[in-house]
Amino acid sequence: MSAIQHARFLASAASVADFPPETGPELAFAGRSNVGKSSALNALAGRKRLAFASKTPGRTQTINFFELGEAGRLADLPGYGYASVSQALRATWDDLIGGYLTGRRTLVGVVVLMDARRPLTDNDRKFLEWLRPVEASRLILLSKADKLPRAEQARTLAHTCAALDKAAMTSQVALFSSKSGEGVEATRNLLDTWLGNKKPPEKGN
Ligand code: GDP
Repeated sequence: MSAIQHARFLASAASVADFPPETGPELAFAGRSNVGKSSALNALAGRKRLAFASKTPGRTQTINFFELGEAGRLADLPGYGYASVSQALRATWDDLIGGYLTGRRTLVGVVVLMDARRPLTDNDRKFLEWLRPVEASRLILLSKADKLPRAEQARTLAHTCAALDKAAMTSQVALFSSKSGEGVEATRNLLDTWLGNKKPPEKGN
């Protein structure tokens, strides 16, 4: 079984002071609100309802931490890009996420979800700029890929890779769909590799 299939809720943090201690390698999941992040986490964990972040704009935003068995932890970052939030709330979000990304020494990899139909929005690019100095592996998942025909999927993948190259941003990129299951197994495997949880293949394989 993959580490993420062992996910169990650990704690919610509304400020840097509330983060759980840095024990073991940690993964973070990010993406603009409504991009399909909760659905992706549920699909990866093989659970109906793992992620339960408050989604109401204007409410306190928290980072939700999960234990991944013995393998490490996962941090579900609050969705970015709400158009309607106040200046004050946005500043709180910046402190929380900025504090996490720049301060979390156990962070080994960041997964950023972007809508396959329109990846690299202004907010996505802003988030990637925040990530630039962070020393962690990166994976961009192009979510809701089932909404695109095959040819479009290939095109959006190629365009995203080219745009990242142009911006000198290093990241793996993959198509993902919580609905069809596309990308689920490959993502689990990559996350296991990041966590150092990859077992050698069994004899005879
Ligand atoms: P979050 O705000 O990023 O956590 O997004 P959610 O996971 O709650 O998903 C937002 C909306 O997109 C919901 O209506 C989901 O049913 C839908 N959705 C999420 N993932 C997929 C997917 O892979 N395919 C399709 N077609 N819809 C999806």
